[in-house]
Amino acid sequence: MRVTAVSGGIGGARFLRGLLAVLDPADEVTVIGNTADDIWLFGLKVCPDLDTVMYTLGGGIDETRGWGRHDESWQAKEELAAYGVEPTWFGLGDRDLATHLVRTQMLEAGYPLSAVTAVLSKRWLASLRPPVRLLPMSDDRVETHIVIEDEDGRRAVHFQEYWVRLHAQVPTHDVVVVGQRESAPAPGVLQAITSCDVLLLPPSNPVVSVGTVLGVPGVRDAVRSTNAPVVGVSPIIGGAAVRGMADQLLTAIGVEVSSAAVAAWYGARSGGGLLDGWLVDTSDAASVPVLAASGIRTNAVPLLMRDAATTAAMAGATLQLAEQCASDRSR
Ligand code: GDP
Ligand code: CA
Repeated sequence: MRVTAVSGGIGGARFLRGLLAVLDPADEVTVIGNTADDIWLFGLKVCPDLDTVMYTLGGGIDETRGWGRHDESWQAKEELAAYGVEPTWFGLGDRDLATHLVRTQMLEAGYPLSAVTAVLSKRWLASLRPPVRLLPMSDDRVETHIVIEDEDGRRAVHFQEYWVRLHAQVPTHDVVVVGQRESAPAPGVLQAITSCDVLLLPPSNPVVSVGTVLGVPGVRDAVRSTNAPVVGVSPIIGGAAVRGMADQLLTAIGVEVSSAAVAAWYGARSGGGLLDGWLVDTSDAASVPVLAASGIRTNAVPLLMRDAATTAAMAGATLQLAEQCASDRSR
């Protein structure tokens, strides 16, 4: 079985770890990673979501923080602060820096991000069974900016500044994905969507993780036209995001913060949208018949990724739902 999944950072990566636990070693996984969170810092290209996927699946992640390397130290960051250079709010660990150095060096030598990601992935993903191929959504520079209001007035800031410096605690008006319209999918991305057996949208942020991948020209149409069942997992439980700033961003783009509203926003594939199936948490089971009536087969199962066992069970439920959707379609 060839499984393709879109992924942001922590929500996607943790889900993927559960997925690998329930798949057969002979299966194949392709991950299309969000790169709209990427940022240039001190001359280095940082790709937080790609790195979170690599480190999480490859055993290098700091489990408590959910991002960056375990056994990390912060001496380079302290030295930069001692020079008084900005920004000081972004966590660049000493071990993590090596990843950004290798990536930047290769980009400057002319390799596209997809080729660089394949090289970095060799260290972290090569020994995984089933095998995992990590593709950036695009080789082009695409950056999410958030329109906020603060003492400097109404302005757009980079997504990382919004989240890491401002903790999303400012009035939030809009989400602008700079460069997206001119971007192209990275090599292999469209094919991974159209020629897989199952396409998964993990519980990643619908706006700034899944939404930015879907917004790369050609990706949404590929999802609409694939023969594979398309199944998503809600990142919203009981009217709130489990973590992160999805609440603020959904509100900013006019989508209610509920698992049902996110599903309706992705839309039923039978109605020109993206989803055949959707998983909601058991606490949101009341929305199952409503979504089913709209053409999205919906199951309610526990969606909190508390530990390896609950995460694997949730991934198993996703595959089961995909099977149900596939048999609906062949009927
Ligand atoms: P980021 O790039 O690090 O923000 O990570 P993602 O976009 O991949 O995932 C963030 C989303 O994961 C947030 O909207 C959370 O609500 C969701 N999330 C985090 N932990 C869980 C969990 O245990 N269960 C579910 N259903 N969603 C989760
Ligand atoms: Ca992210």
